[in-house]
Amino acid sequence: MKGKMISYNLHQHTLFSDGKDKPEKYVEKALEQGFTALGFSEHSPLPFDTSFSLKEEQIDEYILTINKLKEKYHNRLAIYRALEMDYIPGFSEDFGLLQKKCQTDYLIGSVHLVRPEDTDELWFTDGPDYRVYDKGIKDFFGGNIRKAVKAFYHQSNQMIETQQFDIIGHFDKITMHNRNRFFTDEEKWYRDLVNETVELIKQKNLIVEINTRGIYKKRSDTFFPDGYALRQVKMKNIPILISSDAHQAAEISMLFDDARQYLTDLGFYDVMYFENRHWKPIPLEEVSF
Ligand SMILES: [Zn+2]
Ligand SMILES: [Zn+2]
Repeated sequence: MKGKMISYNLHQHTLFSDGKDKPEKYVEKALEQGFTALGFSEHSPLPFDTSFSLKEEQIDEYILTINKLKEKYHNRLAIYRALEMDYIPGFSEDFGLLQKKCQTDYLIGSVHLVRPEDTDELWFTDGPDYRVYDKGIKDFFGGNIRKAVKAFYHQSNQMIETQQFDIIGHFDKITMHNRNRFFTDEEKWYRDLVNETVELIKQKNLIVEINTRGIYKKRSDTFFPDGYALRQVKMKNIPILISSDAHQAAEISMLFDDARQYLTDLGFYDVMYFENRHWKPIPLEEVSF
């Protein structure tokens, strides 16, 4: 007989950022599904108005709300407060400072907004509308897809080199709106960019999340990362975890079974779990969703 199965999701957004439900609704859903751990990772505050991030003045309420849930459910579910940090050079606050302000248990580092050179404008690379992606390539990079993709990976590299965090979020998401229209992951220049970033991830001992959201939102046919990028992660033995990037309670474990099967087929053996403030590997076969 198998031991206790582990079920968890550490990447999700509630009404505190751009999610649709209150935190407690995710907790209720998690208990219904027999989860062992649940982490909230609101989009980090930014120094300009956005429709998607936690506001600086909501930080205290975020802390208080999650603390209350931690207390209320403490013997039934491990609950964590985290942030999905947006890294934008010259704009985003130091990750360490926000970690302290929000008293987070762990941090996810992600790039959604690319800052092209010589401008204060930002290229929103992974919103719901591919036309915003296309327009950015044209306006900021003169239609040169290589320059555009390079800017994304270089910003990611800069984040990895200058900031402290635990998990790198959907690190090849720049491919989402590409859908093989401008390039494929078989091209050498693209593979070189991926190799460089994966090498840095390895050096910094980061965990790579395998994000299922693109597929269930029908914005993609692949997980993030997938294809060549995911195979490099495997080849370098970099630790991974599966997350759904839920924006409503019903999404807390979406496509986890598919992801687990897929990763098993690719030869991955375990995923990282967070327990007693430490990361530890759990065999994929002991994870249940
Ligand atoms: Zn994200
Ligand atoms: Zn997210």
